[in-house]
Amino acid sequence: MKIIIHRGSHQIGGIAVEIKTDSTRIIIDMGDELTMDNSYMPKLLNISGVTDKNGKCSAVFFTHYHDDHTGQLPNIRKDIPIFMGQLTKDILLATMQNAEQETINRIKSAKIFEAGQIQTIGDITVTPYSIDHSACDSYMFLIEAEGKKILHTGDFRTHGFRGKAVTKILRGLIKKVDVLITEGTNISKANKEIITECQLQHKVKKYMKEYKYVFAYTSSTNLERICGFAKAVPQGKYFICDEYQYKLLEIIKDQLEQYSDLYNIKKTTYGINLLPKFQEKGFLMMVRDNSMFRKIIPEFDKDKSIMLYSMWDGYRTHPESTIPEFLALAGKWEYLHTSGHAYVEDIKEMVKIINPSCIIPIHTDIPEIMLNLFPDKNIIIPTDGEEIEIK
Ligand SMILES: [Zn+2]
Ligand SMILES: [Zn+2]
Repeated sequence: MKIIIHRGSHQIGGIAVEIKTDSTRIIIDMGDELTMDNSYMPKLLNISGVTDKNGKCSAVFFTHYHDDHTGQLPNIRKDIPIFMGQLTKDILLATMQNAEQETINRIKSAKIFEAGQIQTIGDITVTPYSIDHSACDSYMFLIEAEGKKILHTGDFRTHGFRGKAVTKILRGLIKKVDVLITEGTNISKANKEIITECQLQHKVKKYMKEYKYVFAYTSSTNLERICGFAKAVPQGKYFICDEYQYKLLEIIKDQLEQYSDLYNIKKTTYGINLLPKFQEKGFLMMVRDNSMFRKIIPEFDKDKSIMLYSMWDGYRTHPESTIPEFLALAGKWEYLHTSGHAYVEDIKEMVKIINPSCIIPIHTDIPEIMLNLFPDKNIIIPTDGEEIEIK
């Protein structure tokens, strides 16, 4: 069996991993590189037999809907089947409304897998396990072929609302593996204080008591965070969002409400006719930096307002960022965020449970840190495109 990290061996995002036997090839994720440059045109990722006709590929699997894992989806040859979770498909379709029809049709053609359901592709089997990440339909994949077990973690963490399930899955279902391909976004941040989604929710409750008008700025697809915030709104106050956000919250409600009340959100869309009611009762309003919210925010008394900035701080501190000016519209603002990725402690715990013979870090700027974290393990640090033979 061979593993190739086509991209993502030395960077966060832009991920594509290949696993192949003599007769079967599968790809996991085909993402765009992350950038803060708005004019950036994503570089095409060319993989022989996947993006052209020079070879065969049996399937492409997606771990979750984030762009750094799905952005190159339109570039995959049309006859190759693609696989993803149902919610991933629905969210991609909802967020890609302005994409070309061909891309929309391609997403519609995706085959759906369910957590725990084994997918057989030639002589490779892939079992997806639903895990915790800032995208709400994210999976780890257990890949089995030629008598070997590989765990591809995708992006994951243990400090979200479903974080505890990760350890249970590793301990009870995945157990021992031969090879671990793990995300390492936060491996350079040892001893960093871990803030949980639950703690963020408690802070929102506190702000809702202190301020009549609370604005929260986060990614519209960070849906578990948004649901967590919405559940912090006390009775008598509104939870407000725009129609786009409303639609995304309806999608997650339809699919996940049966598993947890977290996803059953009482919400109101912003309408100018409701302005007097909003001013009278107070609210938590989900906002984004656009012309609509730039008009709405100044309608409310600054002395009674606060904005909660709930995204990676690098977006704010970037020299060309317009976010500082946007945050100032509410008068005061506070930073309220936690990472969507595993911390060093999570990765150590995972390695202890599944005891891999070899570890391949991806989705990290500095994979070499793994050598220090696990001096007793066989750590493979490949370059993009290099073939790794697993014996
Ligand atoms: Zn990612
Ligand atoms: Zn992600």
